[in-house]
Amino acid sequence: MQSDFELRFDLDMSLMKTLIFDLKNLRGAADLLIKGELVAFPTETVYGLGANALDASAVKKIFIAKNRPADNPLIIHIANVKDLYEIADVGSDKKAWVEKLTDAFWPGPLTLILNRRTHIPDEVTAGLDSVAVRMPQSRIARKLIKLAGVPIAAPSANLSGKPSGTRFKHVLEDFDGKIAGIVKSKPSKIGLESTVLDLTTDIPTVLRPGGLSVSELEKVLPEIRLSSGKVQIAKSPGMKYQHYAPAAKVVLFEIDAIIRIPEYVDFYKKKNVKTRVIKPDNIKDFNRNLYEILRKADKDKVAVLLVAAVSEADIGLTVMNRLRKSATEIIER
Ligand code: AMP
Ligand code: MG
Repeated sequence: MQSDFELRFDLDMSLMKTLIFDLKNLRGAADLLIKGELVAFPTETVYGLGANALDASAVKKIFIAKNRPADNPLIIHIANVKDLYEIADVGSDKKAWVEKLTDAFWPGPLTLILNRRTHIPDEVTAGLDSVAVRMPQSRIARKLIKLAGVPIAAPSANLSGKPSGTRFKHVLEDFDGKIAGIVKSKPSKIGLESTVLDLTTDIPTVLRPGGLSVSELEKVLPEIRLSSGKVQIAKSPGMKYQHYAPAAKVVLFEIDAIIRIPEYVDFYKKKNVKTRVIKPDNIKDFNRNLYEILRKADKDKVAVLLVAAVSEADIGLTVMNRLRKSATEIIER
């Protein structure tokens, strides 16, 4: 159920020195988390902006640093499957689903929505009765969480509304001087966020397609519903906000309209508008690089990105979901 939970955070714009950590000095990063500071860290999906999930004032800092609306709840990241049961109230009716899913897909790019336990701060869940939990596959992420000894609330490490951070340099661009630490590592292996699966409903419902495809989920739970439109907004408040959008205008060409891209190239050329065409070939590479492509366009002062759609089969569903959200114009035929 959606609540009327609302919070106002005072904007604190004071700058700080952002410390950079790597695999060898994760202890320092964990200590900052324990002290209630923000630390960005790599995961296999995207980089996360982490805070101690049990410390309400630490969690508030995430919303301030990202300029994230307070009614958009966060995902709690854990390092052991058993920690899920401390955070969520897994009723006997949901136990079989949870066991099957965690056995098959954790650690990995699957976030589960379950009823929350009462000690989880409202700031994390945006006042909802439910909570989002994930165990990341990234060893660095899990080691950091283990060292901190607390669950870590972490949305994607990017300014709200902008493309997610999938590389160390993206996180530095958005948060240098604004957060206490960043753990530096390689680009995210998947490059798109986790699949969010709601288990509070009668039928498990995908609220957000992500790094784990629906066909993979269906191998474990035969009946899965794909949420769309209004339901998505009510169940997952984050869905109503503009997402993944670069400063460049994104024009998305559905498969039937790809043939029209040259027409648009000519149109913008005549107007002297800096334009770039994106035609993905390898879907996995495209997923991994999407946010870098969007951010690079801004760096290069590209004004219009003309993007060719890909098939929505399997993991293509996720990248098309992100492209539709980042697009200001969708050309259908
Ligand atoms: P981010 O971490 O920025 O990728 O966003 C987390 C996503 O999970 C957003 O779309 C949230 O709306 C969604 N989410 C987090 N907690 C819940 C919850 N309790 N119920 C439904 N959706 C949630
Ligand atoms: Mg995000």
